[in-house]
Amino acid sequence: MRLPDYHTHTVRCGHARGTPSEYVACAQAAGLLAIGCADHLPLLPEPDPELAMGACELEDYVAEVKELQSRLPGFVLLGIEADYRPDTIVEVRALLDSRPFDYVIGSVHHLGDWGFDDPRQIDRYESADIDAMWAEYFELVGDAAETGLFSIIGHLDLVKKFGHRAARPLEAELERLLARLAAAGVAVEINTAGLHKPVGEAYPSPAILRKLRKAGVPITFGSDAHRPEEVGRDFAHAVGLARAAGYDSFAVLVPDPDGGRARLTQAPFA
Ligand code: ZN
Ligand code: ZN
Ligand code: FE
Ligand code: FE
Repeated sequence: MRLPDYHTHTVRCGHARGTPSEYVACAQAAGLLAIGCADHLPLLPEPDPELAMGACELEDYVAEVKELQSRLPGFVLLGIEADYRPDTIVEVRALLDSRPFDYVIGSVHHLGDWGFDDPRQIDRYESADIDAMWAEYFELVGDAAETGLFSIIGHLDLVKKFGHRAARPLEAELERLLARLAAAGVAVEINTAGLHKPVGEAYPSPAILRKLRKAGVPITFGSDAHRPEEVGRDFAHAVGLARAAGYDSFAVLVPDPDGGRARLTQAPFA
């Protein structure tokens, strides 16, 4: 089955390897339907060369992916992964509006000033209230979806990355989030990178995927590759997860010929 991989990074972010053209070559070799480059948007409010490209590199990133897209129209998409933080959203919106991205992945990586998925900041879990973290995280993801800036929500249950599970079920918080996602019309990615993190499970969990299906939220696929050879990694497993959750189709991004954001349509699993 031919699937798209809409979540890949590049050497520009400072913690990945490979150029966009190397990722595209791997996507072709893997027989994917499409590849989206979605490197990290320059970080706000402070740059961090280990987390994202600098603001001065954004223009070159866009030009490089656009050039690949002109050679392989329909196969290469220009995306970006943007952090959702309440304190930077005005600047992020301006930055996103200033470039012809086909789509934007919205990701929450911060709770306040804590980059909670950053291995350099893992010590802070020791003094954290894990249940409160999950609740706050779900609330922020819902806020992100409602900005209208994002086509895809990244790694929906990222708080589990290092194995921190909520002690109570958080059913009400999750139901509220699912309703907000459905109303916003965003897609959620099955992100296979989680399989290679301490948690050892794709994002989101099978239980959340079933609830997403019931709520009518479309899914798509992302490897979150930080090396070219990781493009499309574990996608057979991801399809198994999607089917087990009851999905019989997935979301595909159709680029806008007029240069606006891509449109989400549904493609059936073959
Ligand atoms: Zn990254
Ligand atoms: Zn992310
Ligand atoms: Fe990420
Ligand atoms: Fe990513």
